[in-house]
Amino acid sequence: MTKTPGISGLIFEEPLLWEKGQKGRHGMSIPASDVPPAEFPAELQGAGPEFPDLSEIDVVRHYTRLSQWNYGVDSGMYPLGSCTMKYNPKINEKLAATPELAAAHPMLVDDEVQGNLQIMYELQQYLAAITGLPGVSLQPAAGAHGELTGMLVFAAYHRSRNSRRTKILIPDTAHGTNPASAALCGYKPVPIKSGANGILKVQSIAEAMDEECAGIMITNPNTLGLFETNIREIADIVHAKGGLVYGDGANMNAIMGVINAARCGIDVMHLNLHKTFSTPHGGGGPGAGPICVTAELEKFLPVPSAIKDGDIYRLNFNRPESVGRVHAFHGNFSVLIRAYCYIRTMGAENLKKASQLAVLNAAYIKEQLKGTLQLAYNRPCMHECVFSDALQAEDKITTLDIAKRLIDYGYHPPTIYFPLVVHGALMIEPTETECKDDIDQFIATMKLVVQEAKEHPELLRQAPVKAKLRRLDETQAARKPCLCG
Ligand SMILES: *Cc1c(COP(=O)(O)O)cnc(C)c1O
Repeated sequence: MTKTPGISGLIFEEPLLWEKGQKGRHGMSIPASDVPPAEFPAELQGAGPEFPDLSEIDVVRHYTRLSQWNYGVDSGMYPLGSCTMKYNPKINEKLAATPELAAAHPMLVDDEVQGNLQIMYELQQYLAAITGLPGVSLQPAAGAHGELTGMLVFAAYHRSRNSRRTKILIPDTAHGTNPASAALCGYKPVPIKSGANGILKVQSIAEAMDEECAGIMITNPNTLGLFETNIREIADIVHAKGGLVYGDGANMNAIMGVINAARCGIDVMHLNLHKTFSTPHGGGGPGAGPICVTAELEKFLPVPSAIKDGDIYRLNFNRPESVGRVHAFHGNFSVLIRAYCYIRTMGAENLKKASQLAVLNAAYIKEQLKGTLQLAYNRPCMHECVFSDALQAEDKITTLDIAKRLIDYGYHPPTIYFPLVVHGALMIEPTETECKDDIDQFIATMKLVVQEAKEHPELLRQAPVKAKLRRLDETQAARKPCLCG
């Protein structure tokens, strides 16, 4: 056991329970036995697991300390761009844990789970209303999984028309999962450069789109936090050549109730319920990436989906041209419940307001910090804004140093070095759930860090000094992960 003198609020070293244990400690008191001891049968004796002897307080402190090493949306602002790390109302956790929902076996017959099927059916309807796309599958388990399902739908559509297409257009401002999902489905991603103002030029699509291309995957708002204002014209070009338009709607919290995807010419779109619709994420836990499609493409969606037959809800497996299943049973049901509760409690008006606030908060940060940090594209942003470290170059301070110093001030750093189109990018997404006081405090901290970069650059290069671990070898961690402590 490591012995560091003194104690502090921040526990830097916490030994393993095995190192902490002392023979003879125990975590409960039982009355002394008042009957004579009996012989313990030999066949039941043997070497049990070597558990350490611990008191109750040993255990409580150990796990409480470990929990304090964690940083989450519940502990502070988490402005990780492209991730929508927003506060999720706890009531939705409680509702998702309702025994009738949480303990329902997915193989129960339709008659016995009418309420659950109703939730699925109505959620499909709500997501259709939010996107303007009537066909919905709740099965995909994440955003990237929704993209892959969307690409399978693209492929099924082209196959049904005897059209062999091998490529797909992907702008350089698309999320990184887009080309990966397309490639996994056998399409060759063709990168498209965005224009000087950070959005797509109609001309670039007109030049690249041909009848070998299955379509285009557009992230909108794109990963620069900018709205692709030419989306409709781009969609028309793609459609004219027989292609389809995929809209990456992971960042729906910027446009809910404001933009209708169908009217933008989008044919398939996924939503990240674990970003916009009240499922906490970031720890790799379950998510959901439902896809919404046009009426024409609905027949290709995964089976089953929930349907309403008179007053009865049923699962519908009758879709002969379906791409099949992409998930066991019905997707991550608990995530669907949270989204359903969130949408029901918010209502259309408040969903729209949430998007407006998400955009307002990002725009406020952009305005307050431009000049302190170099703004990548000086035009109105959506729910996130992207800066770079260009102004800090003369002090030889990089985006990484700034991010690490923010940790010392108790912030989770923004997304860094992404999107790739901005050298030394710092991508900040405050989300709609931060209040102005907290955003102002973040802005003030960012300004302080940038001032330190000028006056005491060493502070930034050494940072973080208050974290348990400091500068990790991220390449090594990715290439040779050590997962056993
Ligand atoms: C987060 C995100 C994704 C990927 O979602 P996952 O659930 O992590 O697979 C895709 N596109 C965009 C724009 C995103 O922000």
